Amino acid sequence: MIPLQAVTPAALTEAIPGVPIEEARRIVGAIHRHDRLPAVVRNVRRITLDRVRAAGALPTLAVRGAQCSRIDPFVKYSLSTPGGEVVETVRIPLERHGRYSVCVSSQAGCGLGCAFCGTARLGFQRNLETWEIIEQVHVVRRGLNRVQGQRVHGIVFQGMGEPLANLDNVIESIHVANEPSGLAIDGRAITVCTAGLPAGIRRLAREAPAVRLALSIASPIPSVRRRLMPIDLAFPLAEVLDAALEHSMVTGLAPMWSFTLLDGVNDSVHDARSLAQLARDFRRRGGLRPRISIVPFNPIDPAGPQSFVRSSHDREAAFRRVLSEAGLPSHKRYSGGADILGACGQLAGSHAQHTGQMPFVALTPPPVDD
Ligand code: SF4
Repeated sequence: MIPLQAVTPAALTEAIPGVPIEEARRIVGAIHRHDRLPAVVRNVRRITLDRVRAAGALPTLAVRGAQCSRIDPFVKYSLSTPGGEVVETVRIPLERHGRYSVCVSSQAGCGLGCAFCGTARLGFQRNLETWEIIEQVHVVRRGLNRVQGQRVHGIVFQGMGEPLANLDNVIESIHVANEPSGLAIDGRAITVCTAGLPAGIRRLAREAPAVRLALSIASPIPSVRRRLMPIDLAFPLAEVLDAALEHSMVTGLAPMWSFTLLDGVNDSVHDARSLAQLARDFRRRGGLRPRISIVPFNPIDPAGPQSFVRSSHDREAAFRRVLSEAGLPSHKRYSGGADILGACGQLAGSHAQHTGQMPFVALTPPPVDD
């Protein structure tokens, strides 16, 4: 069966003979508006709907729970796939009231083993299907009050998994999210965050040039980066930045460089100067100035022994001052949802241990507007 929430109108006409593109657009629109295939869709023939119904289905992810943060309006969803894997999705409030971004997982677990990341502890389980990625957005939408204008404005591929290691499905899901008759999410409001797979970055530039790229830098110093991010052994940062440079030139978009500050590991003045030098080189070679995002470290298991410690306020300020003096403004990412292990680096299928301690979100059904 074709998972109907994961097709564009063009893919629907290709997959099911006898479905013209205009009707396919209306059907895709109705599916995303109603979260189901309605019995009647305006200006679509019954025979077309019957064909689609016979060939397609709308599989779902079971919602195991939704935890609201007590300290900010983040919500973490714990979802089960039909195969029983647990994936996590985070609803991120944006500055504009009623607008949200959805932090989606692209894999169950992750095989890249970054030392500061909770998902790494799960190991790689499997790539998520396109519908499983899109369905995470639908799950979040079901918890919004769409009558009051709440809506999903953006998607960030920064949940569990390395999106560029599941690129076929990630690109397909970007096209579905982008589709004007579908979720209609602007490409500029979609960000793909990677640990650094050069071939994937180049392909993303070719096949989804409207979406933004974010790189996890971890350290500008090769020996330190290799220790924090083992993927650096296969793809050293210099190669990743070559690909990011091409991405910047092809798309005209500045990359985001995420930098998780770890006390005594990568947060010295020397580290900051080395990072500033990398950014200067990136610009000199024709790239756009990277947007530096400083990510405070969030403990993976707050109750357990810690491998890393969050940088102190003073060390973080000194680090950012060096960047600023080098003409490189940085932005401190507000990494919300830490109390529900929903912040950056904390997604590790921990819902079971925490369910019951946090209030559940009321999952209101979407309004019917056709
Ligand atoms: S930071 Fe990303 S790439 Fe690294 S282990 Fe975690 S999920 Fe995987």
